[in-house]
Amino acid sequence: MLKANPLLTSALEYPQFPPSYTPNENDPLDPSCATPAPPFHKPNFHILKDTSEEEEVIELESDIVIVGSGAGGGVCAARLAQELCPLGVTVTILEKAGFLCPTDMPLPEMPLAQVAYGNAGAITTRDGHGLCVTGETWGGGTTINWGISLELEPPITQEWSSKYGLKGVLESEEYQNCQKHVRERMGVTVPEERHFNKANRVIWDGARKVGLDPVPLPHNCGGRMDEHEKCSHCSRGCRSGCKQGTANSFLVDAEKMGARCISGVEVTKIIWSPESTPSEKICAGVDGWIVTPPSINSTPSNKTPKRKFRLLSPRVILSTGALRTPTILQASSLTNPSIGKNLRVHPCLLVYGLTAPDHPIDPWDSTPTTVLVPTTNDKSIPMKSKLMRMDPSPGMSLTCLPWYEPTEYLKTILSYKHSITLVTVVRDSDSSGEVGKAGTKTVSGEVGPPDIGYTFSAKDRATAIEGIILSCKVLLEGGCKCVIPCIPLPPHLAKFTSPEGAESPSTSSEFLKWAEAVRRHGCGMGWISGHHMGTARWGNNAGDGSVCDGESGGRVWGTKGVYVVDGSAFPTASGVNPMLTIMGLGEWAARRIAQEVKGGEGE
Ligand SMILES: Cc1cc2nc3c(=O)[nH]c(=O)nc-3n(C[C@H](O)[C@H](O)[C@H](O)COP(=O)(O)OP(=O)(O)OC[C@H]3O[C@@H](n4cnc5c(N)ncnc54)[C@H](O)[C@@H]3O)c2cc1C
Repeated sequence: MLKANPLLTSALEYPQFPPSYTPNENDPLDPSCATPAPPFHKPNFHILKDTSEEEEVIELESDIVIVGSGAGGGVCAARLAQELCPLGVTVTILEKAGFLCPTDMPLPEMPLAQVAYGNAGAITTRDGHGLCVTGETWGGGTTINWGISLELEPPITQEWSSKYGLKGVLESEEYQNCQKHVRERMGVTVPEERHFNKANRVIWDGARKVGLDPVPLPHNCGGRMDEHEKCSHCSRGCRSGCKQGTANSFLVDAEKMGARCISGVEVTKIIWSPESTPSEKICAGVDGWIVTPPSINSTPSNKTPKRKFRLLSPRVILSTGALRTPTILQASSLTNPSIGKNLRVHPCLLVYGLTAPDHPIDPWDSTPTTVLVPTTNDKSIPMKSKLMRMDPSPGMSLTCLPWYEPTEYLKTILSYKHSITLVTVVRDSDSSGEVGKAGTKTVSGEVGPPDIGYTFSAKDRATAIEGIILSCKVLLEGGCKCVIPCIPLPPHLAKFTSPEGAESPSTSSEFLKWAEAVRRHGCGMGWISGHHMGTARWGNNAGDGSVCDGESGGRVWGTKGVYVVDGSAFPTASGVNPMLTIMGLGEWAARRIAQEVKGGEGE
């Protein structure tokens, strides 16, 4: 839609830049930003020696290599560099994507999708029902995510400890220290009510009116909540430098301590030492391709010749995210049948609420998502779903709006200024998916998107529909005049309009009748996901369906020197936004691996 009509964002009145910024092509960070931002750090990328021979492999060596610079990889790199570089150990970070300069951000949605999102926007599931969104840029998902920084809740910690063998990790004092360390490094801060914009205020008030206890959502804004509040464009990149994604924090630390950063290398497989035995494969490094990351001024040409890359290393940490890591393990002749299975995605379903014409919301105004609505006030049981506001960029929030009829559709999207999109984030229970081998694009050697299969179970779909109905109640009680569930429904159920003069629209007989009909209709197709988990899970026993040994820091069973440190490690869905947990596990893994290297094990 955005591509077809570049005038759309103007028609919606959506500002390409947060109101407190003025775009400026060459200048350092905008001086109109309330607090001057600290100077940003541009990585000093290692330049690969160019060879003129087409067939020649570009080859390097390193004692440790981390593949992927996102939540898991970034944290791991910082700790390993800090502990080991001073001892003369070489640490290398390999990332396929390029660096996005804060002065270029926030980018308009179309070029942003090209340069910072996996598959130039999203990867569709095999059945076409789901859209998986990933960040592929220096800093991975942490550069373009919403910055919400939540810890695992006690019932899930318990489940992962008792059922999935992670007691030794999660219940240790050291893991608590790891969590504390990552929280502190990113300056995780809880917003106050004064930081809520109009949209979050509606959600907060509506939740309380339906009897739920909403909570403010902590953000990794380096303690600069007042400044962070002035920006609403988190998913399009943070210009002020408040958001402490790994590119602004851990990767800077890693580089300062001596880690070598390489961008534009896509790893395809692990290579094994000839000393490997049938029961233990010994890591010798990685193979991949040199790729040209898309930049904001150009897209890679498919005429770029293939260049092979090899990095020799006895230790490889895979942090390429839960949709990519299993494809690399599969391509490396590892045969554990659990690799790529057990995919969890937190399917997200949306409700679009519209306020009265004399109550504009200005959805682009201020920090997008500051309020979490639990779907139950009972904290002792794992929560089936949660509600939170969707990032307001049109490409994100309008993508799922159902289309019934052209005039009505146009009217709805042109009311964007009055809209609030509330998301039901389902904690997938018995739904599960799998990630299959990625296809290889022929000419440039770039690896294509992974093949994702996912079955949204009846039980989880029932959770989703309850979340959708609850979202409608929250929005109506908070002040919306009309709600539109973003699921396929018969036209007569497409939206609910608050009865004239109703004091409590969500308890009116009209709403109850409509909600019952929506419930009976159910939902299935049309979810989106930015949380990918579980495809190479950690456990404590090679025979328990896990792929890695959690206590050793994620070493892949049956290997020496290969580790998985990213969202793939989760045994089940985390039920909370995953970044902080991935980072905690990253810190845990790096401490284990550093100890191992210092002790000379595995040499
Ligand atoms: C729009 C959006 C908003 C989100 N908001 C939040 C939020 O507010 N809070 C939260 O907790 N979570 C959020 N998330 C999720 C969170 O960002 C991810 O769960 C997290 O970043 C995943 O970390 P990771 O280490 O598994 O992988 P990633 O952070 O995805 O990093 C993987 C990196 O590996 C690189 N890579 C991939 N394949 C290769 C290869 N073959 N060779 C070399 N490099 C490769 C990628 O380019 C990428 O940089 C959001 C996600 C999205 C998409």
